[in-house]
Amino acid sequence: MAIVGIDLGTTNSLACIYRDGRAELIPNELGGYKTSSAVSVLQDGTVLVGAAAKERLVSHPEATAASFKIWMGTQKALTLGDRRFKPEELSAFVLRQLLEDARRYLGESVEEAVISVPAYFNDDQRCATKLAAQMAGLTVKRLINEPSAAALYHRYSTQSGDSQMMIVDFGGGTLDVSIVDCFENIIEIVAIAGDNRLGGDDIDRAIAAHFFRENGLVEERLEPSLRASLYRQAETAKIALSSAPAAAISIQRGEDQYSLLLTPPLLRRLCEPVFRRVRGVIGRAMKDRERVRAIDDVILVGGSAQLPVFGDFLEELFGRRPKVAAQPDEIVALGVGLCAGIKERAEDLQDLVMTDVCPFSLGVATYSYRGDKTPHMAVLIPRSSMLPASHQGTFYTMYDDQRALRFEIYQGEGYFASENLKLGEVEVQVPPGPAGEQSATVTFTYDIDGILHVSARSSGGDRRDRLILNSNLHLSESEREKVMARISEIELAAQGSKRNSSCWSGPCGCMNRCRAAGGSWWPA
Ligand code: ADP
Ligand code: MG
Repeated sequence: MAIVGIDLGTTNSLACIYRDGRAELIPNELGGYKTSSAVSVLQDGTVLVGAAAKERLVSHPEATAASFKIWMGTQKALTLGDRRFKPEELSAFVLRQLLEDARRYLGESVEEAVISVPAYFNDDQRCATKLAAQMAGLTVKRLINEPSAAALYHRYSTQSGDSQMMIVDFGGGTLDVSIVDCFENIIEIVAIAGDNRLGGDDIDRAIAAHFFRENGLVEERLEPSLRASLYRQAETAKIALSSAPAAAISIQRGEDQYSLLLTPPLLRRLCEPVFRRVRGVIGRAMKDRERVRAIDDVILVGGSAQLPVFGDFLEELFGRRPKVAAQPDEIVALGVGLCAGIKERAEDLQDLVMTDVCPFSLGVATYSYRGDKTPHMAVLIPRSSMLPASHQGTFYTMYDDQRALRFEIYQGEGYFASENLKLGEVEVQVPPGPAGEQSATVTFTYDIDGILHVSARSSGGDRRDRLILNSNLHLSESEREKVMARISEIELAAQGSKRNSSCWSGPCGCMNRCRAAGGSWWPA
């Protein structure tokens, strides 16, 4: 049975398998490779995923969600119609749709997957991704970092010479930057940095905000569908600028017409705050490299990397224009497909070796002295350690007859523990004794999937407490079963079926035929 590779994107998701010696993208019902990561609940309770769901952001914003990947691993719930969904449940629908397409295309069902996640996804977000997969009936064989997948495919497909390259993946909601050393058959990720709240969506928002300002409109007072239409137009205009000198945006509200002409210089100006943040992330990646050498190539992947103004900005930064990868929208999925092939032990991929690094520091909160009120972070696994990484630290009691040592586990770069993300805690008992005599050794193991295992062992007793963090995202076994049952009961609507797609902008009102007739997918 095939292992499918899945790029579960903020904006678009793709599936890929490795067969007959190559990574092969799986088309969806509409014939394309990209499936919009949008979910809409229809009147009859079925759930629609993909382009038709994205259309409903405009026509039925109250029943539709997109870009929910940015909420993965948080407690946020989104209301669609009269139901509330967790982000991982919505992601599960997207995964189910991809699996359904894979089953149709391959003629067999798929139960195992390699899934890519932004390099900068923290532990909660990675576990949420695994949970989403579980809800879709998938076993995750491996999580791979998106830029690593892109690097893998780039190296594999170009067979370029030994070099150090920087991969910049700029998508809809996330930015990932990784620096990769390639020598012979080894692809070594040497540094990663990113921002999982930065992408093309921010550019759309900046355009929309400018539109409101220029037209003296207050966004909050606008009808939801008009707002959604405006955001859609902002995105369309942004993309149109790749090939046109200007693009217009306009909305009609009662008698009044509001408009804006977007030009490359204006777009560049609106992008400036976003690009400033991009520069920060690139700087961090450069600083984190252990072996500093010249970057031979900068490779751009992801939808937003195709923006000419983004190329201009990077050209100013690096002094030469970076290359946009051959298939910028698909390269992550192709890399994940290769990774699935490696997992299946495909013979022609056997020599390919890829190493990855930990994107953030992991440690425990410690006190420097008795009475210290603000614990700082004792780092056990420093950022950019090669994976899998296993490190330990020994910590001593601070008070006489202290009976336990409790370790709070954190992830992040802040000096004080409270500045970082708390992942959980573990406590071990120690025998009584004078302060500083008893101790416990904590071992952190960060595996290749980016999941942390922690164990603590105390000096005196042979007692050992072990825990695997967040693997069920704070859900008990019975809660998890309930969630799984709830999601699997909901039926997926066909992507191209007539009843779901009020394709009001097309000539015929039907997604499929509209496309066949060359109709517009976007509002006119
Ligand atoms: P993700 O990985 O977040 O799912 P993608 O890599 O598919 O996202 O990129 C989606 C983003 O790329 C969206 O913000 C979209 O507006 C933008 N985008 C797609 N195509 C282009 C293009 N040709 N020029 C500029 N931006 C684009
Ligand atoms: Mg992506």
